[in-house]
Amino acid sequence: MRLDKLLANTGFGSRKDVKALIKKKKVTVNDKTVKDSGAQVSPEKDIVKVNDNIVQYREFVYIMLNKPPGYVSAATDNYDKTVIKLLPDDYKRFAPFPVGRLDKDTEGLLLITNDGDLGHQLTSPKRNVEKTYYAHISGHVTEADVHAFQNGVQLDDGYTAKPAALEILQANDVSHVNVTVTEGKFHQVKRMFEAVGKKVIYLKRIRMGMLGLDTELETGTFRELTEAEVESLK
Ligand code: URA
Repeated sequence: MRLDKLLANTGFGSRKDVKALIKKKKVTVNDKTVKDSGAQVSPEKDIVKVNDNIVQYREFVYIMLNKPPGYVSAATDNYDKTVIKLLPDDYKRFAPFPVGRLDKDTEGLLLITNDGDLGHQLTSPKRNVEKTYYAHISGHVTEADVHAFQNGVQLDDGYTAKPAALEILQANDVSHVNVTVTEGKFHQVKRMFEAVGKKVIYLKRIRMGMLGLDTELETGTFRELTEAEVESLK
């Protein structure tokens, strides 16, 4: 790839900023000063340094966001704030996108990446990736609801949801539950509770596949995944 592209992709500013760096003789490839910003370099084989520091090229970024309410799960939107807006501008160069969708009012675990293959794997209906949500439900959630979820409830459009695991944490006028589903239909969890005559009043995703929401992450904050976490998702 072109040297200026590699440097622009690794956070050294725009192509113009990068050209200026090269002109100032701050950039070396395999310890030789380079003058041509269009020089071809191999991110795997060549050692590129800026001000004597090795440039670590990486193609992919993997971010765990604790989504706050009020943001839409999209890369761009004409009306609403997007989850991408919660990331510093430095990440823009990766063109990251959210993996799957959480409703605007839903909180919790949202993976943001530019790894299209992983995004596809995690959202493919064939893969049945488990997603667990913590929810507050208006009304008493009962063992009958647990069985109904186990058997697959019928949604408003006639579709029968795949079996889901419902765990009652607290049954009261407002019940607290965990629910694990393996599909991602529009408003899936809200519609599943509607099917048993109840309403979701708070929804937070706490797990996706093997990846649990980091309990240290405040709502609206994010961190990058560790390599082990990325591997666990593949
Ligand atoms: N199910 C819903 O109803 N909403 C979400 O945001 C996620 C799952």
